[in-house]
Amino acid sequence: MSRADSVQQMIVDAIPAFTDNYIWALRRGDRVAVVDPGDASAVLRHLDRTGGHLVAILITHHHGDHTGGILELVHERDIPVFGPTVRPIGGINRPLEGGERISIDPLGCAFDVWHAPGHTLDHLIYVGTDRVFCGDTLFAAGCGRLFEGTGAQMFDALARLSRLPDATRIHCAHEYTVANLRFARAVEPDNAEISERIERELDRRARGEPTLPSELGLERATNPFLRCHLPAVSERVRSVRGVDARSPVETFIALRQWKDDFR
Ligand SMILES: [Zn+2]
Repeated sequence: MSRADSVQQMIVDAIPAFTDNYIWALRRGDRVAVVDPGDASAVLRHLDRTGGHLVAILITHHHGDHTGGILELVHERDIPVFGPTVRPIGGINRPLEGGERISIDPLGCAFDVWHAPGHTLDHLIYVGTDRVFCGDTLFAAGCGRLFEGTGAQMFDALARLSRLPDATRIHCAHEYTVANLRFARAVEPDNAEISERIERELDRRARGEPTLPSELGLERATNPFLRCHLPAVSERVRSVRGVDARSPVETFIALRQWKDDFR
């Protein structure tokens, strides 16, 4: 990077796509990288509006709402496309399996890559110095459904994330926060931070703002899936679901099943 680059802040924009997806755009000056571009047209509109050009794509997992725009975006662009290859995903030219460190030089940033199976078997998380791009693993006040992996795998992925610093910004891929908080309140009716957060996030949605990124400290206080070690949570799983969970991972699995049934 030149000296001028180093004084330009990196900006991270949430690009809404489909009904509740966010494609994250990392921008420094006129250089942009996107995470999980399910919809090429939403990214192209963002590039138009910001005068940016695309320098890299990061993919967390194979689902179409995260990958559907890749081929259109890489058409005639020679850019790195990072992502998993457990399932073939068209357009990926920097295959990852987790454990790597990747650099996006035009943006002057780097990420540690974690393999985080649970939602899918190929799921990756990109961990930067003060933020993570975690796809459909950790959501604000919730976590992804278990489509391919096991509850134990997802529990491990969330436990690893929850050891990051409190101020870590959580860039997940869906606007599910308010619905997730309603479930969180059913799990912990006496947790005042959850009730306060529902009001705050409803206000943001009413103003048309995203509730993301979240912060890990807030997640640890209000996300039931990061609170499975607490007696209040395992007790509630016992009283509401009749599950006698003997460990945090068993509580997690019962909680995930409860959320699947929750309306
Ligand atoms: Zn997904």
